[in-house]
Amino acid sequence: MSQRNIQFIRGVGPTKALLINEQLNCLTVNDLLLYVPFRYVDRSVINKLSEVSDVNLYYQFSGKILSVSEFVFGRKKGLQAMFSDGTGTLKLVWYQKTDWIVQKIKIGTPVVIFGKLSFQKKEMQMAHPEVIFSAEKVPDSLVGVYSSTEQLGKAGLNSSGISKLIKSILEDPSVQYSETLPRSIREKYRLLNYREAIYNIHFPENEKMLAQAQRTLKFEELFYLQLELLLTKQINLQKIKSFVFEKKKDLLTDFYTNYLPFELTNAQKRVVKEINRDLHTGNQMNRLVQGDVGSGKTLVALLSMLLAVDSGFQTALMAPTEILAQQHFLAFRELLKELPVRVELLIGSLKNKEKLELIESVNSGVVDIVIGTHALIEERVKFDNLGMVVIDEQHRFGVAQRSRFWKKNILPPHILVMTATPIPRTLAMTVYGDLDVSVIDELPPGRKPITTKHFFEKDRLKILGFLKSEIMKGRQVYIVYPLIEESESLDFSNLMEGFEYLCHYFPKPDYQISMVHGKLKPEVKDFEMNRFIKGETQIMVATTVIEVGVNVPNASVMVIESAERFGLSQLHQLRGRVGRGAEQSYCLLVTKDRLSQESKKRMTTMVSTGDGFKIAEVDLELRGPGDLMGTQQSGLMNFKVANLMTDIAILEVARNEVKLLLEEDPMLHNPENQLVKQEINRRLKNKPNWSQIS
Ligand code: ADP
Ligand code: MG
Repeated sequence: MSQRNIQFIRGVGPTKALLINEQLNCLTVNDLLLYVPFRYVDRSVINKLSEVSDVNLYYQFSGKILSVSEFVFGRKKGLQAMFSDGTGTLKLVWYQKTDWIVQKIKIGTPVVIFGKLSFQKKEMQMAHPEVIFSAEKVPDSLVGVYSSTEQLGKAGLNSSGISKLIKSILEDPSVQYSETLPRSIREKYRLLNYREAIYNIHFPENEKMLAQAQRTLKFEELFYLQLELLLTKQINLQKIKSFVFEKKKDLLTDFYTNYLPFELTNAQKRVVKEINRDLHTGNQMNRLVQGDVGSGKTLVALLSMLLAVDSGFQTALMAPTEILAQQHFLAFRELLKELPVRVELLIGSLKNKEKLELIESVNSGVVDIVIGTHALIEERVKFDNLGMVVIDEQHRFGVAQRSRFWKKNILPPHILVMTATPIPRTLAMTVYGDLDVSVIDELPPGRKPITTKHFFEKDRLKILGFLKSEIMKGRQVYIVYPLIEESESLDFSNLMEGFEYLCHYFPKPDYQISMVHGKLKPEVKDFEMNRFIKGETQIMVATTVIEVGVNVPNASVMVIESAERFGLSQLHQLRGRVGRGAEQSYCLLVTKDRLSQESKKRMTTMVSTGDGFKIAEVDLELRGPGDLMGTQQSGLMNFKVANLMTDIAILEVARNEVKLLLEEDPMLHNPENQLVKQEINRRLKNKPNWSQIS
């Protein structure tokens, strides 16, 4: 593998190297060799203009130039030509470097053109086509298409420019290729050797070799990703000690036998057991509990926290919003009211004096369970003996915030993070590869599936009538408006208009309406929220502040306005606010009439399934993994060759191989693993917090 800087490749030089590094994030020859085509075009095929089915794809046509002329755009001049292949005509345009074209393209010249079609001002055109004059040869094989940028294009590095550059590297005899995967693995999975794989991914000999090359490079990439994650986990296990919990009190048993409001689901029981096991190993627990909305994560948190209290430790639960923290607090207080446990709520909006007193009691150790928001990680909240921390809806917090708890005791406390963002298993394996994952894959019994329907704005009266009938039955309803930034004034006025409209349709005193949004003072917000929780209001008009965690079992209808503006996981979270009681619940998605393909897909997905994991997979497909909530910071999603959507099978195989390897040789001492060791050390060299394996 060549770690040589690309500026030393013939024809590159420092300026271009800088540009390539900026635009493609490629610094070394090897980086560039791993900049692979995103698509291949079979150049042995000549298309017909009359048969074009889709723009934005690459096509190759054979025909003649009909006319050539200049045009002006801004202050610059471009060149355009009309082309015909006998079945139709097409405009070709060039925005720069037009001299050679003027010289070579003459009316009537027979040419083969290749490029991407697009629509400009309702007219089909091809910008900067590759032009092959009949004297030259049309390639007869699969040709890679590379994504390029405007700036690169200006520097001559459009797709075919990049292809030429890569070809010149491949033809350079001084570039070295060394294997990165052990021979045994390559043979077992019939992978190509590195050089062959690289060559064929750029210039495939045929379809079969291309597939082999892709499989090889994907395997390699996923193998090292998994090795990195599993090594991190292994090192964490070795280095990070935490408290061994020893039972001194019997609160958990007491609670379990006398006050548990319902039988735990089997999934809840299993997860509590997994957590309990972690707390006795002497190593720090780093466990993620994943469970769809409504699967009962709060109770799992409570039981785990009682384990901490039973062992004489303090424990904290951090939630992303005050409303949620408060709700957890009220639930905990109620459930634990007969037990000798002190539960307190620490949030930013407490009065200063109250807050200081509370922090004092937390620091002196008399408070057993503290529930709160970010206020918990403030420097002055020191605790006396913090043994376990639970972080609810963890995707709302960054890793940095999580780690602030580590310093609050002599050993870092055990960490349990809970999330309802249903991450597909593949993604969980990569994103949370360094956490242990428990899944609550079962909903409490007796839940009726939520009926989800898609409506258009013109159906509003029908919807209002339906809401009225539900309210008559004693139910409550949520009506949610998008408010992406709480300051967006158009959104805000929509919310206010909606509120007024509803007040009109549902007049006092028969109906009471709460409204919650981010611009309200926290006291007002809490007051409104609590009125709804207590059933004093029937309608809750809100922005997505109610998205996470809120639990009002009597609410049976969730209306989502401008639903097309929400992402799938958000829609699913919102829908999860209903269906928490025994009644049939409904989710009504209201959108404008004309929807994009993608919005349509989101609506049909919501209507057709309630399974959070399925929804997450569609979400991943629509948005790509880099966009999934909470994964942006991880930096793990920047794959070069692999694709998490389609390469699940390879990922699993690679992960198993890594596991086997580390079981046999955890420190990579065996001579046959030196290759792997060198390679992982090279990859990790630039990452912070990494001690090399030696
Ligand atoms: P989430 O996993 O979304 O945080 P919650 O913990 O808020 O879900 O639980 C949702 C609802 O289900 C709550 O009303 C809770 O009391 C109830 N619940 C939790 N566990 C059970 C169970 N084992 N049986 C019946 N209801 C349960
Ligand atoms: Mg919850």
